[in-house]
Amino acid sequence: MMRCPNCNSRDIGKIGSNQFYCWECFVEFNVVGDQVKLFQVEEDGSLSSFDDLFSEIPQVGTV
Ligand SMILES: [Zn+2]
Repeated sequence: MMRCPNCNSRDIGKIGSNQFYCWECFVEFNVVGDQVKLFQVEEDGSLSSFDDLFSEIPQVGTV
């Protein structure tokens, strides 16, 4: 079951083949293999990477 890597919510919307959006904390994330990339959606619609904030990537949807 897919969970938000940021807040662990299951309220996830799929917006692309490997792209998801969390309705709880309003982050967008991409899943490529075992890698998850988080993006914060800015007010102007642009995306900011979370890479600077997360040194360890949590596991998502592996169980
Ligand atoms: Zn979330």
